[in-house]
Amino acid sequence: MLDKAKMWTNQRNKELRDRAAKVIPGGMYGHQSTAILPDVYPQFFRRAEGTRLWDTDGNEYIDYMCAFGPNLLGYRHPSVEDAATTQQRLCDTATGPSEIMVELAERFVSMISHADWAMFCKNGTDATTMAMMCARAHTKKRKILAAKKAYHGAAPWCNPYVAGTVPEERAHMLYYEYNNPQSLEDAFRAAGDDVAGVFASAFRHDVFEDQELPTPEFAQSARDLCDRTGALLIVDDVRAGFRLARDCSWSTVGIQPDLSAWGKCIANGYPLSALLGSEKARAAAQKIFVTGSFWFQAIPMAAAIATLNQIQKTDYLERMEKTGAMLRSGLATQASSHGFSLRQTGPVQMPMILFDDDPDMRLGYGWVSEALTRGVYIHPWHNNFICAALTENDVKLTLEITDEAFAALKKKRATLGPVPQLAARFARLHDESLTAAR
Ligand code: PMP
Repeated sequence: MLDKAKMWTNQRNKELRDRAAKVIPGGMYGHQSTAILPDVYPQFFRRAEGTRLWDTDGNEYIDYMCAFGPNLLGYRHPSVEDAATTQQRLCDTATGPSEIMVELAERFVSMISHADWAMFCKNGTDATTMAMMCARAHTKKRKILAAKKAYHGAAPWCNPYVAGTVPEERAHMLYYEYNNPQSLEDAFRAAGDDVAGVFASAFRHDVFEDQELPTPEFAQSARDLCDRTGALLIVDDVRAGFRLARDCSWSTVGIQPDLSAWGKCIANGYPLSALLGSEKARAAAQKIFVTGSFWFQAIPMAAAIATLNQIQKTDYLERMEKTGAMLRSGLATQASSHGFSLRQTGPVQMPMILFDDDPDMRLGYGWVSEALTRGVYIHPWHNNFICAALTENDVKLTLEITDEAFAALKKKRATLGPVPQLAARFARLHDESLTAAR
């Protein structure tokens, strides 16, 4: 444990899970359900500050999930909190938006090279769905191309699980292989002259898979195919936005999309997402009817302006790259010294950490469980996130803990059996998964 005097316990979490099971379907839903994580993972938390999380039993964690992305600068970052508190005294949800909405749109347009306009909403799914509608309104065509296994949200057109949806909702979706120009070209051909838009994630960050940055050839081919056919190129920067660049993530490969979808960290945890677009798509954006009761909340917009200030004026990105690199090389050395082989892929500030020779994830689950009960929260099959509040000392402390976790795993290695219920948990997901059909 981070606090050596305290023993890790999960009694309170267990009680809350039992109560939740009665009043929340499945005890929890969507990506927040820890039912498919190792059993020791807490479901509920009480406090968050900087890089740290405290669960309901008072256990402290160095948090490498950052709320699945929204925590960019550190939980409760002082300048973001100040901006939110100041705005709270004025207005939040009101009959109309606050004047700061204009300032926020101006800030995005000045920072993001491809953007000439901005629209704000709440969740990443709102932004990607708006992008999809915008592409169809612009082209008057139907087909949307997306990479196999890529996640673009939980709306029926893009939900990776089929329960509660009908095939007709995905009738105009076609799938290509990320980073494979030929596969993208084939998808265009299969769609005939009917492609409205191409979705591409900032980089390949699919669950359970090694991550891949976009190759310049792939990004260029997506741009060329869209230009040739009139389709709109959409970069989904919901997860990776501002963790790779102070611009759209595809600026790193020199390609400007027509639309980019943002969310998660743009207000450092306050609920806000955005669709940014180029001049070409402005008329279409003006036509679609999109809205929501809480989309114009002023507090998240004030928090976003404060977040963008930090992004522009500080070395937040370079610090994340430095601590991320320290963590990656430390883990690689530790793993091999304990006789394990890790695959750490993707940008260091969004690391996917998988074990070689671990088809049923017993090593991965075993190792993250050992780390968790000692005070480090790492996800076994989703990319992790580094935030700018993480210090080199935090990484050193993390590595002390992960070293103990590798040692404990090594001791148990021979006796590790299949993770209880893991096959069933994943079978459930796979049965319902669209990926098999793609
Ligand atoms: N796109 C990507 C790449 C995402 O990672 C996510 C969320 N994980 C979404 C879209 C959907 O965002 P939200 O959950 O806020 O609707």
